[in-house]
Amino acid sequence: MKKEFAVIGLGRFGGSICRELSGEGMAVLAIDKDEDKVNQFKNIATYSVILDSTDEDALREIGISNFEHVIVAIGENIQASILTTVILKELGVSRVTVKAQNDYHEKILRKIGADQVVHPERDMGRRLAHNFISSNILDYLELSDDHSIAEVKAGRKMAGKTLADLDIRAKYGCTVVAIKQGREIIVSPSADESLQEEDILIVIGADKDLSRFEKNLV
Ligand code: ADP
Repeated sequence: MKKEFAVIGLGRFGGSICRELSGEGMAVLAIDKDEDKVNQFKNIATYSVILDSTDEDALREIGISNFEHVIVAIGENIQASILTTVILKELGVSRVTVKAQNDYHEKILRKIGADQVVHPERDMGRRLAHNFISSNILDYLELSDDHSIAEVKAGRKMAGKTLADLDIRAKYGCTVVAIKQGREIIVSPSADESLQEEDILIVIGADKDLSRFEKNLV
């Protein structure tokens, strides 16, 4: 069964989500108050509709509560984003993901019941910054305010060594939760697992510990 998504706001972020979900064969309803934007997505999304999402009746009329997951990707207009989120939760949409503009916006969205708040610019900035520090840091995902997951290429310092040799948990307080070797993935690797230069480690830990790990081993 296809999952049913609705994307409200077809700017760069919402548009990209809409394209990607449609490309993956999902059923997507594309919504924007701007006719030109909706026209751009006519041939991409499964359905498309011009409406202002702050209009509760309009959302009710299109049966928005039947969608499993609604993404609110309204950029600049924080007021419209908040009002839309309130209406969606009131209409009983079970999963609402909202793009936040800043921390203040995020706080309000969480208070009014957004199920997931995303901060694409901030998160991308963080990921890139870590990648700038070392090109071996492939990705960086925030889990909470002070914990993250990093995806790290093993590199020369780790090649030929086992996890026990590197003693990552004792020395840096981080845990290697998986190792990707080409197409294989070793979940919860044992201490005697030995690393090769192109291996990719998935490491979880407190930001300050990950930072020490990055500085010393990556
Ligand atoms: P991005 O930074 O992701 O490009 P934008 O602010 O450029 O975001 O785009 C947000 C989109 O949301 C615009 O296409 C705009 O027309 C749409 N939008 C804004 N307010 C509403 C609303 N109340 N109802 C529906 N669409 C809206």
